Amino acid sequence: MSSTTGLSGRSVVVTGAGSGIGRAAALRFAAEGARVVLADIDADATKAVAEKISEAGGAAVAVIGDLGDQQVVDRVVATAVDAFGGIDVLVNNAGVMDRMSAAADTADEEWERVLRINLTAPFLLSRAALPHLLASGDAAIVFTASEASLRGSAAGTAYTVSKHGVVGLAKSLAVMYRDKGVRTNAIAPGGTVTGIRVDVDADAHGPSVLMGYMGNIGRTATADEQAAAIVFLASDAASNINGVVLPVDNGWSAV
Ligand code: NAD
Repeated sequence: MSSTTGLSGRSVVVTGAGSGIGRAAALRFAAEGARVVLADIDADATKAVAEKISEAGGAAVAVIGDLGDQQVVDRVVATAVDAFGGIDVLVNNAGVMDRMSAAADTADEEWERVLRINLTAPFLLSRAALPHLLASGDAAIVFTASEASLRGSAAGTAYTVSKHGVVGLAKSLAVMYRDKGVRTNAIAPGGTVTGIRVDVDADAHGPSVLMGYMGNIGRTATADEQAAAIVFLASDAASNINGVVLPVDNGWSAV
C-alpha cells in the first residue's frame, strides 16, 4: 500500500482503540500501511477492530486491559516490540469523562478514577515506551487532550484538571525529547460523536450544563475528523511540529 505520510511499515500504539476516536485513528493508521497495537479495556470491541484491519490486509494486534495498571502498560510495550520490532508512534488517546461535578461535589473516587485513567495512564505508557521511541530515532507521540484542556470549566473538575495535565505532559515531552528524535503533540477535540459516556451528576448541575456545552459547539465532530488530525501530527507532514495543542473543534476555541 503506497503512503505519502511516512507511516507505512511503522509500529503504532493506539490506546482506546476499541471505540470512537482511537478506533478511527487505528483504522486510518492501518490504511496508511502502519502496523498497529490496539490497547483498550474493552475486549470484544478491540478484537473486532483488529479483525477489521486484518481482513483489509493490514497488521494489528490487540492488548486488553486497564491502562492505569503498570502490568498492562508493560504488556502493551512488550507486544509492540515482539510483534512489530519496536514503537515509532504512540497515541495516548484512551480516556473517560467524569460526572461533570463541580469541585465541592467531586468525590475522592471520581477524582482518583479520572486522574488515573486520563493522566497517570498516559504518563505510565509514555515512560515505558520512551526507550523504544528514542531507539526509533524518528518517533512521534500524540495525545488526545480536550477543549477542556484549554480553559477552566464550570463542569467536570476532575476531567478538566486531567486534560490540563495531559497538555503539561505533552509539552514537557516535546521540550525534553525534541533533539532526540521524538516529537510530541496533542489534539484538543471539541464535542465529538463517540461512545464516550457522560454520567452527569444531576444533583450538582442538572442537564443544563451539558446542553450549554453542546450548544456552544455549533456542530459536533466525527471521530474520523479527530483521527485525521492525530494521523497528521504523527506523520512526516508534521515533521517540524512539536509541542502544539491542535484544536479540532470547528472554531469553538476561537470564540
Ligand atoms: P470512547 O468512549 O468512544 O473511546 C474511549 C476508549 O477508551 C473506549 O474504547 C474505552 O474502552 C477505552 N478506555 C477507557 N478507559 C480505559 C482504560 N482504563 N484502559 C484502557 N482503555 C480504556 O470515547 P472517545 O470520545 O473516542 O474518547 C477518546 C478520547 O477523546 C478521550 O481521551 C476523551 O477524553 C477525548 N475527548 C473526547 C471528546 C468527545 O466529545 N467525544 C471531546 C474531547 C476529548
